[in-house]
Amino acid sequence: MKIISPPKIVTGLFHSLEWAMPAASQKNIYLSFDDGPTPSITNFVLNELEKAKAKATFFCIGKNIVAEPAMFNEIISAKHQVGNHTQNHVDGWKTSCFNYLQEIETCENAIQQHGYKHIGKPLFRPPYGKITKQQINALKTQYRIIMWSILSYDWLHEKNENQCLKNIVSHLKNDAIIVMHDSLKASINIKKTLPTLLQIVKDKGYNFGLI
Ligand SMILES: [Zn+2]
Repeated sequence: MKIISPPKIVTGLFHSLEWAMPAASQKNIYLSFDDGPTPSITNFVLNELEKAKAKATFFCIGKNIVAEPAMFNEIISAKHQVGNHTQNHVDGWKTSCFNYLQEIETCENAIQQHGYKHIGKPLFRPPYGKITKQQINALKTQYRIIMWSILSYDWLHEKNENQCLKNIVSHLKNDAIIVMHDSLKASINIKKTLPTLLQIVKDKGYNFGLI
C-alpha cells in the first residue's frame, strides 16, 4: 500500500522534523522538487512554474549541482528556494553519522559556490526520508529538516496514468508540503501532471509558499 500522507504516529515520533508548514493567514501549498538539477526535466519544471507564477523549493543533490551548474544557476536566478539533499543521495540508515554529515557539508559547499543565500537556517531533506535519531540530533541545530505532507509517487509508472495527480489532489490541504522529483525517473509523470496540478492548486485558491 502506498502511504501518501505520513501517519500521526510517525510525525509524532519524529517531531523535530518538519512534516507541514505552520498555519499562515492565507491558504498556502508548498511545492518541492527533489534530486535535480537534471537536464530536460528541471528546465521543464522551471518553465511551468514561471508560467504559473509559482515558487518552489528544490532539494538538490550536490553531484548534480556540480554536473549541471548552469541549470542550478537558473533555479537560483528564478528566485526559487534551494535545499540540501546530500552530495550523493545517500541512505541515512546505511551511512555512519560522520559520513552523513560530510555528505551534507559537501553538498552545502556546492550550493554556496553558486552564491546562494539561505533565508534563515538552511534546509535539508534526507534522501528516501531515511535518517537516524543520531543524525537528526547532530543536524537539527544547524538545519531545518524538511519532510513532507504529501508524497506524489511521481517515480512510479502506474496503469492509471493520472494516478500521480490523484495522489496529490486527493490529499491537498492547507500548509501541505508536496514532494515531487525533477529526476529522469519521474519525468513522464511530471510532464503529464505538473501543468494541471498548478492550475488546480491555483483554482482552489492556494498560494505557492516557500519553505
Ligand atoms: Zn531524493
